[in-house]
Amino acid sequence: MSDTAASRRIKEMEVMVADVVVETPDTTTLVLFTGNDRLEYSAGHFLTIDPHQFEALERFTSFLEDLKGKRELPRAYSMCSAPHERQLAVTVKEERYVSGLTKFPPLLSPLLTKRTTRGSRLVVTGFTGPYTLPADITAKTDHIVHVCAGSGSVPNFSMLKFALAHYPTLRHTFIYSNKTWQDVIFRDELTRLASTYPDRLKVVHSLTREENPAVCGPAVRRGRVGLALLKELIPQPTECYVYVCGPGISKFDIAAAKEAGTEPQPRFLESVLADLKAVGVPNDRIKREFYG
Ligand SMILES: Cc1cc2nc3c(=O)[nH]c(=O)nc-3n(C[C@H](O)[C@H](O)[C@H](O)COP(=O)(O)OP(=O)(O)OC[C@H]3O[C@@H](n4cnc5c(N)ncnc54)[C@H](O)[C@@H]3O)c2cc1C
Repeated sequence: MSDTAASRRIKEMEVMVADVVVETPDTTTLVLFTGNDRLEYSAGHFLTIDPHQFEALERFTSFLEDLKGKRELPRAYSMCSAPHERQLAVTVKEERYVSGLTKFPPLLSPLLTKRTTRGSRLVVTGFTGPYTLPADITAKTDHIVHVCAGSGSVPNFSMLKFALAHYPTLRHTFIYSNKTWQDVIFRDELTRLASTYPDRLKVVHSLTREENPAVCGPAVRRGRVGLALLKELIPQPTECYVYVCGPGISKFDIAAAKEAGTEPQPRFLESVLADLKAVGVPNDRIKREFYG
């Protein structure tokens, strides 16, 4: 896409929250009514929301800016909706403040997940992002492997729905890591898609803190997404394309580790990328999106 085409797509829009869907205890989908605005986005794109627009956050935003010594930036949210669907929607997971661990309380996600109601108005800026399916994807592969953790499933869910509807030669393996069964976002919809497209979609859940995952169903495994699971699910590593999305080492983790004189610990993204390399997936067949 040319730069002009990209900048044509990015615009500020005032939208109304048409529906609020509680996906899990800490995750909410906001369905956005956009009026007559044309929605030119690709599956996998994100929009941004500037926290300064919310009166309810005004004092908190100023306080955090004073503490951090810099202006709070707009936050990015991927669309969970797909371009062929009627409504635009984003899915937001609430960040938590963990005493002794997190440096500052999270600013925007608690408001979007817990205090945004139907009829609320928001200004959003979109759409952009490099984490998309290339137009010639069907010439490159017939197998897309999605490897996601937590809210990292959001852009992949959009790409999955779009590709199932538009690229009939593509099959998908959707590997999804969460702590427990109740944390799985889009759980029912993923199950429904897998039964609608039994030959084209395989969903495998990997739960790190579920005592007895077998009771959640045959597609549910225990533990982290690791080398053994990726080896099992990627039998032809040089033929597929892999889309990995989830938490990775942030600039804050790097700064904290430096201060402590240690190395930052690999997070989901780094450990999956290392395992994909070990499985034999070429680097140019791996697309990644980092959620800090
Ligand atoms: C491309 C992209 C797409 C995304 N899509 C989604 C999505 O679809 N759904 C979703 O839920 N999230 C998504 N995110 C994450 C989202 O943008 C926000 O980062 C998330 O909602 C947290 O924002 P917050 O304002 O609640 O927390 P923040 O205020 O940003 O705080 C988050 C954490 O960072 C720490 N922190 C913040 N500032 C500093 C600092 N100066 N020094 C040290 N530590 C600091 C805080 O202590 C806290 O632990 C995406 C991110 C990216 C980059």
